[in-house]
Amino acid sequence: MTLRRQLREVLTTPRTASWLARELNMRRDEVEEDLRHAIVSARAAGESVSIAPARCKTCGFLFDEERLSKPGKCPSCRGTRIFEPLVSISPKTASGGT
Ligand SMILES: [Zn+2]
Repeated sequence: MTLRRQLREVLTTPRTASWLARELNMRRDEVEEDLRHAIVSARAAGESVSIAPARCKTCGFLFDEERLSKPGKCPSCRGTRIFEPLVSISPKTASGGT
């Protein structure tokens, strides 16, 4: 199974970049690149991509959802306790009509 395919499979559940790096044995920068690629091709295929952006645990600041890796610092309160962004891809569901 190719890595990209593996990525798609695990992303049916929301995952963080660091989870993917750990479980798929990838470097962080590789993860982000492949993740981006998976998102673009999933969208192109009409699948539904959901990204929960990174969020500051201290003040609730929401980061840009294009950011897929964990930010080091909150620009608002300078806190470093930050929730990592979660990405998931749902396969196309059969649309009821015939
Ligand atoms: Zn903050």
